[in-house]
Amino acid sequence: MTPNRHQSAAISGPSASHTETTPSGFAGLGLSDRLLRALADCGYHAPTPIQTQAIPHLVQGKDLLGIAQTGTGKTAAFALPTLDFLAHDRAPLHPREVRCLVLVPTRELASQVHESFRDYGKHHDLRYAVVFGGVGIGAQQKALSRGVDVLVATPGRLLDLMSQRSVVLRDVEVFVLDEADRMLDMGFIRDVRKIIDALPKDRQSLLFSATMPVEVVQLTKAILIDPVRVEVAPQTKTADKVEQSIYFVEKAQKRELLAKLLEDGKMFRTLVFTRTKHGADRVVRSLKAAGFAAAAIHGNKAQGARERALGSFKDGKVPVLVATDIAARGLDVDDISHVVNFDLPNVPETYVHRIGRTARAGRGGVALSFCDQEEREYLRDIEKLIGQSVPVVVEHAYRSTVPFAPARGGNQKGGSGPTGGSGQRGNAQKVEHRAGPPKRNAPRRGRGRARARRSS
Ligand code: AMP
Repeated sequence: MTPNRHQSAAISGPSASHTETTPSGFAGLGLSDRLLRALADCGYHAPTPIQTQAIPHLVQGKDLLGIAQTGTGKTAAFALPTLDFLAHDRAPLHPREVRCLVLVPTRELASQVHESFRDYGKHHDLRYAVVFGGVGIGAQQKALSRGVDVLVATPGRLLDLMSQRSVVLRDVEVFVLDEADRMLDMGFIRDVRKIIDALPKDRQSLLFSATMPVEVVQLTKAILIDPVRVEVAPQTKTADKVEQSIYFVEKAQKRELLAKLLEDGKMFRTLVFTRTKHGADRVVRSLKAAGFAAAAIHGNKAQGARERALGSFKDGKVPVLVATDIAARGLDVDDISHVVNFDLPNVPETYVHRIGRTARAGRGGVALSFCDQEEREYLRDIEKLIGQSVPVVVEHAYRSTVPFAPARGGNQKGGSGPTGGSGQRGNAQKVEHRAGPPKRNAPRRGRGRARARRSS
């Protein structure tokens, strides 16, 4: 099917027939044969729910609000119809022209989205570029000089390039704002608005966000026209697929506890989250001292060091990657066996994002959380959000002696160790399920997301 964005103005609403797809895969979504070939090369057999729901509307040129997080296949959902649109009736590019702009919050995500466009567009004759800060600007200026069909960019570097007149946005036909809620959390909203002001009014716009805080709702009203709304896997549901447990432990003993748990050998690909960059470095140092291969990834690392760390983690040479939340955004690593919340996040949604790293593509996963005295309030907020109490590992070598919420009588079990599987070896633990889940959607205190945003 030929993309007919320009006819779409006459279409008042989504047609039901476009939301259906053949059970055998991508064939019914209106994508070109060359895209289908590229998808086969990638080993994709069937669309994910967001792809099934979004693509038929996007090939019709509709604006879209996608409520979905990383891991749902949202990149292909927007990249595939865009590639076909850009390849149709293609005129020669003008110098510094951009036809599709994808704005993302982090350089890791920028690299991954760029790579996805190249993979999916391997049979299209289109030009792609990626720009982000922390690396020299010269090569990026050069890449843009002849014009590109697709530019993936982080906001700060794009504004630099705009101010140097190295890129022109007045011909943008498709605009994608990815991870809008993270853009806000990271303090990029003003930059994003400046970039939007430089775009032409006549364009197709797509906005993706895992959550919908009020500022994102405002943004959708400002940039989307009569959008189709597609929502997949509500965020809190991610938690249901993950085997979660809590270790009450003093702050000073968290590193020893982590090393002890790793001795077990079942945590073959573990992502550890710390609150700070220095915290991440300290954890890596202590793990190395204890004889474990580990690497850190955070904003203070040079791009090359981050890519090397990620590469060794992906190919299994380094089984433990220690990351801050911002550095881990958009990390695309399948098969993470364990997520460790070395520090509990003060924004409860972040907990759900983190543990969702280990339950990709319908698989289960294990999430272990260390909770010191100061973090107990965070734990309560998390449990309210996910609507369940997280089982506590009651017997472990570094258990905090400070009492925690009393257990419900007779609800202890010495079941499978939370480090995964039923084999009771090494650090297999007793798990205690505490009294009833806190009420879902109960009003939260004034901490958390709002405060995190203000301080960013
Ligand atoms: P995303 O949410 O876009 O970051 O995608 C998450 C992961 O799913 C990436 O590793 C993609 O390569 C992969 N993926 C996306 N769509 C499909 C599909 N239809 N079948 C299999 N894997 C997919």
